[in-house]
Amino acid sequence: MKWSLQLGRIAGIRIYVHATFALLVVWLGARTLAEGAGPAAFARDLTFVLLLFGCVVLHELGHALTARRFGIATRDITLLPIGGVARLEKMPERAWQELLVALAGPAVNLVIAVVLVLASVAAGRGMPAVPSDPWQAPLLERLAWVNVMLLVFNLVPAFPMDGGRALRALLAMRVSNLRATRVAAGLGQLIAFGFGLLGLLGNPFLILIALFVWIGAAAELAMVEVKTALASIAVEAAMLTRFDAVAPQEPLERAIQLTLEGSQKDFPVLERGELRGVLSQERLVAGVARGGAGLVVADVMEPAPPAAHPRDPLAPALERLQDGSVRMVPVVEAGELRGILTADNVFELLRFQSALDAWTRSNRGSSTRATNSTNRKEDTRCRLATG
Ligand code: ZN
Repeated sequence: MKWSLQLGRIAGIRIYVHATFALLVVWLGARTLAEGAGPAAFARDLTFVLLLFGCVVLHELGHALTARRFGIATRDITLLPIGGVARLEKMPERAWQELLVALAGPAVNLVIAVVLVLASVAAGRGMPAVPSDPWQAPLLERLAWVNVMLLVFNLVPAFPMDGGRALRALLAMRVSNLRATRVAAGLGQLIAFGFGLLGLLGNPFLILIALFVWIGAAAELAMVEVKTALASIAVEAAMLTRFDAVAPQEPLERAIQLTLEGSQKDFPVLERGELRGVLSQERLVAGVARGGAGLVVADVMEPAPPAAHPRDPLAPALERLQDGSVRMVPVVEAGELRGILTADNVFELLRFQSALDAWTRSNRGSSTRATNSTNRKEDTRCRLATG
């Protein structure tokens, strides 16, 4: 995440704190001032907040290390004022694995709370009572209760919070992943709306969490929808078959002319029908700035990225386009360039696909109509496939 400062590394996972975390410290200071409390009270509250976020790191490590057992790496863990985020490389494929990964975080808070309660009992202080004013209670007692609160709060089924993820996983054991995600995301947004309303009554953090849940639910649902739509589509359905190519010895002027005449941004570089490289718009602009329009394509082109086969599934190719590692995937069959794939035309296909799906859903009245719509879908795929 941008604007993040690395704190360190635990179990090989980088831990960051986001710049907005400073807001929390400022808020704490303002609170101390408003109450007329001294620096000692501020130091005590700050210690509590730091210990609390220590517990949040352990919670996130619970998710990350459980995911690791299923072969999924975690990119990093970032602390925000509203909590922590562990960025897993991907979600587990199996529902029971997702369930365990989701529950592992709250389970850590349960363990911390139990340990703190046992420590309190062992120290002869007895069972910690629910503090009437949490800010005034002794540190360990506060920490025990805040872990109970983290446990309960995270289990609220507001997808993509932990409870919502667990719910999605449980649903996905009975219905498709897409339907499970739709239900979980819908409930998540409903609860987020409630959080927002409650937040308006005086808790700004709840408003932030509501936004986080609302946007997160929509984004994850969109991702699952795209993935589901792509599962049955081959590269050839989405590839561009009408495109311009340039030759290595052509001047850059030629590529500029093609760019201005059409809408293509990246060009395959062909020599006697064979793919030699790729000329992206960025390289073209940089090349012109460096040597003028007189340079030739071979001077600025990049090596061609690994090609896809027309009947390869679309999803891995789109992943490469989306993570920014390539801007275009050449589609090659028997040594011949059959088409090119860009993120833009994959999304064009998906838009038509979802428009057709919406049409199919609204016309589910009679079986003949349903058959018709499936045929139409096939038609569109063919048409898109041929350009
Ligand atoms: Zn969690």
